[in-house]
Amino acid sequence: MRYLYGPVPSRRLGVSLGVDLVPRKTCTYDCIYCQLGRTTNKTLKRDAYIPAQSIIREIEEFLGHMKTPVDYITFSGSGEPTLHSQIGTIIGEIKKMTSIPVAVITNGSLLFLAEVKRDLSQADLVIPSLDAVSKTVYETINRPEISLEIDRVIQGVVDFREQFRGQIWIEILYCRGMNDDPSEVAKMKEVLEQINPDRIQLNTVYRPPVEDYASPLAEERLREIAESFGAKASIITPYRGDKSLWGKGEVEAQIIDALNRRPLTVEDMAEMLGLHPQEVIKHLKLLLDGNTIGYRLHGRKIFYEIAS
Ligand code: SF4
Repeated sequence: MRYLYGPVPSRRLGVSLGVDLVPRKTCTYDCIYCQLGRTTNKTLKRDAYIPAQSIIREIEEFLGHMKTPVDYITFSGSGEPTLHSQIGTIIGEIKKMTSIPVAVITNGSLLFLAEVKRDLSQADLVIPSLDAVSKTVYETINRPEISLEIDRVIQGVVDFREQFRGQIWIEILYCRGMNDDPSEVAKMKEVLEQINPDRIQLNTVYRPPVEDYASPLAEERLREIAESFGAKASIITPYRGDKSLWGKGEVEAQIIDALNRRPLTVEDMAEMLGLHPQEVIKHLKLLLDGNTIGYRLHGRKIFYEIAS
């Protein structure tokens, strides 16, 4: 499977089959907190980066041999999925094959385009991120492609909400000292009232960011902000599942596959694989000895990643 990953336990979506629609770090943003490294192709160009038929074929094959029940088929992964010009066709084809709901995790920057709104109309759940509402904060955190303007991005999300019949959950990632000052939070609250999403999910820098200065917000401050946003707001906490999804024979391959997407702790991998942490450490040791993976410290936790 080249374009699918998992199914993986997700903090928000239960068991999720990931679909990667664009090559790694093809994105409209270059967020300071991105866990995938620097954006190598910062663009607004929508294109068939990967042939739609190849993706559809893989999904068809997965569904034909599905062993684990899946809660969502989720477009996210290594870049911005709405940059794929055939995302609408792909969602439409999935809808013909299965009743598993489709979720799209997007940075929301292209929702001002009529064709993107139309393409996402068949999804069941869209999770746009919105980390800032002021120009300077937006440009500092998200480092958008030069022609993107925050007011246009916000208007795109507001308009999409009006047309879209599915669920919209807004995700806000907070970085300490960047987007958490009271005036930005108050402006964000106004914008959220305008958007009127079904849920508001607050996140922080749980994984090693591309820039060392992107620091997590204290849980207490996150809670304070969530409370100020009202009953729809909650904090995304790291996944604490216990589903065993993997056969033991494929543990190393699954670890490498997962680390190709993002850095993980032993606990993350233990949860993802349904294994005891000691068992995971045993497999990690083999991969470390073979120089396939490395590790680095972030927020007093050790994160494993593919060796560079
Ligand atoms: S965090 Fe998401 S939106 Fe930001 S640069 Fe990384 S892939 Fe793009």
